[in-house]
Amino acid sequence: MAEEKLSKLTTIDSSKLFNIRVWEGIQYKFAKDLGIAIKVVSEDGKINTHESNFSDFFRVLTSTEPGRKLTEVDVSKIDREARFATLYAGCEYYIASTYFYGKKFFIFVGIKAKREDTQMLKSLAAAAGVQYDDLYDAYINLQTFPEEKLINIADLIVDLFNIVIELSVQEYITQMANREKEEEIQKMSALMEASIIINSTRNLEQLLRIIMQSAEKVMLAEASSIYLIDNERNELYFEMATGPKEEEVKQMRLKMGEGIAGWVAYTGESLLVPDASKDPRFARRVDEKTKFITRSVICVPLKVRNQTIGVVQVLNKISGGSFSKHEIKFLEALASQAAIAIENANLYEHLEERAEQLNKNLKEAMVNLSIEKKRVESTVQSMEDAVIAVDKDKKIVMINRVAERIFKSGAESYLGRQLETVIQMQEIILNFAMVLDQKNISKTEVKFQMGNKEHIFAAVFAPIIDEDNSAAGCVSVFRDITEIKELDKMKSEFLNMVSHELRTPLTPIQAYSELMLVRDVDTPKVKKYANIINKETQRLGSLIGDLLDLSRIESGKGLSLTLEPVDFNELLTVVHETFRSSSVKHKIILTLPEKSEIIMVDRNKIIQVMSNLLSNAVKYSPDGGEITIKCWFDEKNVNVSVRDQGLGVAPEDLERIFEKFYRVESEKVKKIGGTGIGLPIVKYILELHNGGVALKSELNKGSEFIFYIPKVKPQV
Ligand code: ADP
Repeated sequence: MAEEKLSKLTTIDSSKLFNIRVWEGIQYKFAKDLGIAIKVVSEDGKINTHESNFSDFFRVLTSTEPGRKLTEVDVSKIDREARFATLYAGCEYYIASTYFYGKKFFIFVGIKAKREDTQMLKSLAAAAGVQYDDLYDAYINLQTFPEEKLINIADLIVDLFNIVIELSVQEYITQMANREKEEEIQKMSALMEASIIINSTRNLEQLLRIIMQSAEKVMLAEASSIYLIDNERNELYFEMATGPKEEEVKQMRLKMGEGIAGWVAYTGESLLVPDASKDPRFARRVDEKTKFITRSVICVPLKVRNQTIGVVQVLNKISGGSFSKHEIKFLEALASQAAIAIENANLYEHLEERAEQLNKNLKEAMVNLSIEKKRVESTVQSMEDAVIAVDKDKKIVMINRVAERIFKSGAESYLGRQLETVIQMQEIILNFAMVLDQKNISKTEVKFQMGNKEHIFAAVFAPIIDEDNSAAGCVSVFRDITEIKELDKMKSEFLNMVSHELRTPLTPIQAYSELMLVRDVDTPKVKKYANIINKETQRLGSLIGDLLDLSRIESGKGLSLTLEPVDFNELLTVVHETFRSSSVKHKIILTLPEKSEIIMVDRNKIIQVMSNLLSNAVKYSPDGGEITIKCWFDEKNVNVSVRDQGLGVAPEDLERIFEKFYRVESEKVKKIGGTGIGLPIVKYILELHNGGVALKSELNKGSEFIFYIPKVKPQV
């Protein structure tokens, strides 16, 4: 510590170190009390106290009235080895000396003797500009002291001097320390200021400028600059520069490793250059271009996550001289703030870009989503099936029009309502609950009344699974399968009927043919039996024909027409003949137009149509009655009506009578055999002829089937 203090003090100007005024005060008091003269001079002459001397002689000699000169001691003339020195007017002083921190101080204590030399006094008076008589009188009265006394006093004064000078040094050190502390505080506050601003602004240029200004202010520098590394070109460019040559400097670039900045960028180490002109690393190029004269430089790296991205450089102390080592630390601290600022700004810029991109993506996603949502919504809404989706709390989150129509009576929407308050069917509610709980698809059939008819729905309940594999909700689709179910039922009834219908004619055929084979049957009976067999075979044939036709229609092959010119009156007459005798209970009457017409039709198929209609008329008027066949021609068509007085058809069945497999669900009809394929084939054949068929009927009163066929004349 002492050595450090010493080395520090030896570099300091001793006049600054020694508090001369304090010493002079002490010197003054001593000289006055003891009535002796005291003066202290440092070896280098920098400290030279004003002599404390209370004699009249001294007062006259050293008076500072205008026109007088001060008498001063010329230190260089003092014999350093002598014990006494004659300072002026032949007055002898004792010389004591002391060393302090390598410096020698002389302490003159007087006066031991005086030399009475009038000539000397005269020239002294002239030089000082005082009256010789005054000076002479004062000189005569000048008191002298014995050597011993002076030596004793000198010893005392040396001790005292040493104490004072030590105190001065202490005081100086304290002052220095305080000054350093003040500087430290100033630096700290500059750092604080910088970091507060860094954290409050995102403008990189502003930030860097603040950092550089702080550096310049605290370090009392002329200029500063920040370079960043351009990794692609392996160069440094001026991100920012302050000082008088800012603009010129900014246009320049340095190669990596070039100049002091390049060296710091390359090595990543801080550098203090007391005198740039003597440093081999210094790049004169920049100064030559800018006409700036670089003297002292501190340059520190800018590091972001341990990687050097640039350097901060501070140039020239305003007061001259060099920057000090402890200023490197300050600049490093500032540089780390600058690095944070740069990184923050980059990060912010990056974040801004990211945010913009995200925003764009989000907008796109939202547009897509809303398109998708609308698409899904309109798909769901336009579905013929009922769709209901609930969330995990069974609140309805989606319901389409069909579902609202099926499940509700009022006009208010069910969206957002609790499922249980909307749907009373326990079975449906249970299915939703089960799917939400077990996360499995559930399929079931539910029946409910719609209007006055019971409908059957196939219902599917599917869980909506979240990313975390929990059930976020459940969506259900209800499809009305009432018709399919009916068709199913009709099909199985049809199969029963077909087998029954096939067996019915087979039984008499088998029985009568066996009879004829086993017994000797007389001719009239043979004829009768053969007739029965023939009739039943025809019935079987037409049934099989109908079945084949239906299967052709069903398989998409369809029926083909073989058109030929047909005289309609003649055709109807033949059909009438065939049916006339088929039932004893019925009277079949044919009414024909006077003049027949020849039309292009498929003869056999029209016979099939007529046979179907007539056999139905017979079948469905079990109590007999009249059956009338009527034909008439109009401009475009040939029209035929087949009317009976039988069971008739209820209004609700009128539309469906031409559907395949459809049979009226009444007990009376059920008793009568049939397959439900006759009328569909009739309709099909007529449509193939570009014609059509309609039914007029009243329950229990009878039915009238009317068909028409466009009159296509044979080409002559
Ligand atoms: P099938 O007579 O073999 O049952 P159809 O297709 O010929 O099949 O007739 C379908 C249904 O139409 C019949 O089951 C019957 O209920 C009704 N139907 C047909 N013709 C008449 C009619 N003339 N009078 C009353 N009902 C009829």
